Amino acid sequence: MHPWKGIAISPGYADGVAMVYDDQADHRLGFPDRDILPAEIEAEHGRLNDATEQSQGELKQPEPSAVGPAAPDDSTAVLAAHSQLVRDIAAKVKQHLSRELVNVEQALDSVVGTLVDRLCQIENEYLRAREQDIRDVGRRMMRHLTGSPRFGLSSLPAHAVIVARELLPSEAVELSRSGLAAIVTEQGGRDSHTAILARALGIPAVTGLVGVTSQIQSGMRLLVDGQAGTVTIAPSAVEQAAFSKSREHYQRSLTAMAADETLPCVTRDGMAITLLGNIGQPEEVEQIDIHHLSGVGLFRTEFLFLESHERPSFDTQCEIYTQVANALEGRPLVIRTFDLGGDKFPLFLATQQFGPQPSRHLRGMRFSLAERLLFETQVRAIVHVAQTADVRILFPMIVGSHDFSRAIAAVDQAVDKLGASRRPALGAMIETPAALFALQEILALADFVSIGTNDLTQYMLATDRHAVDLTDECTAWHPAVLRAIQRVVDAAGQDCPVCVCGEEAGEPDFARLLVGLGVRELSMTPVRAAPVRQALRKTDGSTMRQIANQALQCATPGEIRQLFADQRD
Ligand code: PEP
Ligand code: MG
Repeated sequence: MHPWKGIAISPGYADGVAMVYDDQADHRLGFPDRDILPAEIEAEHGRLNDATEQSQGELKQPEPSAVGPAAPDDSTAVLAAHSQLVRDIAAKVKQHLSRELVNVEQALDSVVGTLVDRLCQIENEYLRAREQDIRDVGRRMMRHLTGSPRFGLSSLPAHAVIVARELLPSEAVELSRSGLAAIVTEQGGRDSHTAILARALGIPAVTGLVGVTSQIQSGMRLLVDGQAGTVTIAPSAVEQAAFSKSREHYQRSLTAMAADETLPCVTRDGMAITLLGNIGQPEEVEQIDIHHLSGVGLFRTEFLFLESHERPSFDTQCEIYTQVANALEGRPLVIRTFDLGGDKFPLFLATQQFGPQPSRHLRGMRFSLAERLLFETQVRAIVHVAQTADVRILFPMIVGSHDFSRAIAAVDQAVDKLGASRRPALGAMIETPAALFALQEILALADFVSIGTNDLTQYMLATDRHAVDLTDECTAWHPAVLRAIQRVVDAAGQDCPVCVCGEEAGEPDFARLLVGLGVRELSMTPVRAAPVRQALRKTDGSTMRQIANQALQCATPGEIRQLFADQRD
């Protein structure tokens, strides 16, 4: 049978035996729902407390084990986040059951359903991943309330490949402890917690295989290629041989890559490239050290408070920014001010002024300039922390000199108000077509610029960055996007540093293309840095310049990929 093509979300190769996971089993068991009398409220609270305690007990970090790999930071973070969610959901369930006079199971089902529905309506990938977490925690608590059995991990066969409609994050953590070989799912985005965990654990994973749970039966032999995103069912001898060869090649490259992580990122002809990390939470700063990066090139601060019911205070923000800056020990920290609006809308602003679904027009810098108090408080906190650390400020979705100069004026005002002695370096995100036509004015005001290829691509090519799309036509590889990047690099010249911080900066060939276009700073999800470093160390800057020049003449992303293929031959 031909390999089945899906979307590769975690690299690696696995030769294993299918285990089809029925994630609907818990649901089919159902739960008792009934109305209660006021006199029963206390007893129901007691049952909820027990389920909360048991759920949290399960989510405790495992004792360090003498055998097996240590838990990766990401799995620790998922367990900690779920433990907090158990507490938050339990508080809501308590209120709901007392108000509505329903039993605890029914209250839990309503609370989880409402939270999930709300998050499902939002297009943002990050929030969709939170929706999975809430269902995951809800399912765990329900299991303790109803006494349903847990997913039978002990029955995992050797080299098990889990085949599921979707896998929830805590299930991925549990499965990873029992020697799972690979994950194959119908649903689940590249940015879901499960995908992030699979990458951190080194478990190959392929998603987007619609109907896979009905096509594959437990016990079938599977070859999973997490590089190409394919699954081969019942492989032939020829397929097996080709697979083994690719796997050996991959293993060799992994060994070489790990050894290269401590080496400087310099091309073969001596061009130094600065590799930085993108983070969205303070604890992710640990990854900067792990991957030997030169600092944080993009701290997406809007994710810090999206689910907060209260406006983030000056003190809270100072604490977080200081924590991250201290962890970097002198390396630069680029803090992007809240990139809110559109699909990123915090709970604390869900007021009548904006309504539950704010206008798509109000976003990025425009949102901040409309929400002055929020913006000014954040800017003051950043300026405060920047007095004692290398902290720089980046403004999102700049469309010209007018919004940029108003943002700068807010920084100047904060410097005055605080009686501060230094103004931090200020940068503009170049991620709208408008900014490309206002480059000179923006550059005249900027200390640095950062190209956001995610939004630049979507707005230039009239596409949707969240679409699960297997074609390459609407990616940053499009020649129009490359010409835009070239235009920014040329206009900035030697005077203004240019970083690229969109997702594609973490793709080794694209990173080479960027270097060929003259970019010298790349900021990416830290786990993606090792292959980029390795690719750039093997790159000749002058060859990349030639390829980049040819790429600028191409008409399609396919032609540009072909340039790389020709070069490898
Ligand atoms: C981008 O648009 O490329 C970018 C880095 O910003 P974000 O992904 O946060 O929109
Ligand atoms: Mg953006």
